Amino acid sequence: MLWIECPNCGSRPFEEFRYGSVFPVTPDAITDLDARNVDYAWMQDNIQGVTLERWFHESGCRRWFTTKRDTTTDQFLPLDD
Ligand SMILES: [Zn+2]
Repeated sequence: MLWIECPNCGSRPFEEFRYGSVFPVTPDAITDLDARNVDYAWMQDNIQGVTLERWFHESGCRRWFTTKRDTTTDQFLPLDD
């Protein structure tokens, strides 16, 4: 079973969480607000490897948090690694 470490509740089963998105990074180079918003909402990199992601603990504390996950193994990693 896959477990996720919630910063508020500790280690909990994967089924309690909802995936949010890759942690949003707004590019500085794009100054057109419409283009930047389209990139923000729709242009995901689908990274193979370690990513920063937003998760929601839906069946627990009902808070959003940021975590690291290796998309090739689905292993969650500490943020300070
Ligand atoms: Zn929680």
